[in-house]
Amino acid sequence: MLSRSPFMQKTGRPEVHVTRGNGPYANTRAVLDRMDLSPAKNKRVLLKPNAGRVAPPGKGIVTDPQVVAAAMDVFKEVGAVVAVGESPIAGVHTPEAFDAAGITEVAKKRDVDLIDMDDRPAVRIDVPRGHIIDSLKVCPEVLEYDIVVSLPVMKTHMHTGVSLSIKNMKGCLWRRSKVELHMLPPVENHDEKPIDIAIADLSGVLCPHLSIIDGTVGMEGLGPSAGDAKPFDCVVAGADAFSADAVACRLMGISADTIPHLRMGGQRGYGVIDIEHISVTPEHWQDWISPFTPPPENLSIEFPNITVLDNNSCSACQSTLLLFLKRYRHILFDYIPSENNIQIAIGKGHKELPLGTLCIGNCTAEHRKQGIFVKGCPPVSSAIIHKVTGKPAVDVFDGHGETPDMDQNIK
Ligand code: SF4
Repeated sequence: MLSRSPFMQKTGRPEVHVTRGNGPYANTRAVLDRMDLSPAKNKRVLLKPNAGRVAPPGKGIVTDPQVVAAAMDVFKEVGAVVAVGESPIAGVHTPEAFDAAGITEVAKKRDVDLIDMDDRPAVRIDVPRGHIIDSLKVCPEVLEYDIVVSLPVMKTHMHTGVSLSIKNMKGCLWRRSKVELHMLPPVENHDEKPIDIAIADLSGVLCPHLSIIDGTVGMEGLGPSAGDAKPFDCVVAGADAFSADAVACRLMGISADTIPHLRMGGQRGYGVIDIEHISVTPEHWQDWISPFTPPPENLSIEFPNITVLDNNSCSACQSTLLLFLKRYRHILFDYIPSENNIQIAIGKGHKELPLGTLCIGNCTAEHRKQGIFVKGCPPVSSAIIHKVTGKPAVDVFDGHGETPDMDQNIK
């Protein structure tokens, strides 16, 4: 379990700082300059950006390298030893994700270690106040470093409402154990979704010591990976991760108490999400509010004539499917016999599926006889194309967050 933040004010309201309009490096330095980071002197600081997918900066998918660079510089200046760590989604290799995000380059220049947090064996920790989980497999570095800093991208998320500094800590869970949070059954007498309860549980033991939220280019709509980039040129920082997330939500035009994992964490006393009880600088910060398009409640609106039957899927399967649909939905109708609607299933626990359903991922295997089944956990997009078209396909961006023009790869 992570200790209380050494940057937290001893008494009174949590403080959150916002800057907009000066570019990622200057924005980050500006918010951190308003904080007393001297408790980091002689400490080991682990920066945990969002580099969970292979994607370049500027698309709203991964943390901007200049935000990470500014955090490295500020912590080095106060006398800390700094490293950057990540445990990405299934199918992504950490060094490749760091390279694509531009983080390798800024780390090399500063002689900062990059850590593939999936390399070493996991450490199992208890979750004493968990409502749906009682233990977690955690990457060891998260427990070994003195200070853990969460550096998420400001995003909407189709399953958890937003993905900010609390949600970003899911990337501290070891390898595929992240997937287990998506496999949980509903909790009796609990209206919230299992994944939201699990993230609230996680935040009780893995609340970061500092949050630096990168809104340089956020993501709106179909986040966390298939939405639209939202240039915003903004950075938010605070020692109370819930308060930082609540302020980021407000900037995105969202009330934090509509986000289940933030609401539950706030109710349990893990942090403060009531804006009235947070001191935010500068005073005029709410002038910068710029509403993000929320994630669609019904994917059929986004993809007409395609019904996505999603039951508790992982973000790995979601991103594979959503990126596939964005690029290839037009070819589906050429290959799948359908009057006017194609059904696609992802996730686990589907009781029944209509005949002809395209079943994606091992979780749907028991329904394989209903239609086309694409194995994998998660499957790669070339496997989906191959299964649908019957022709071998090479998709050089399999499992990646970026989608160049891949049509040429359909043979
Ligand atoms: S098949 Fe997809 S939804 Fe199922 S566990 Fe694997 S990644 Fe998650």
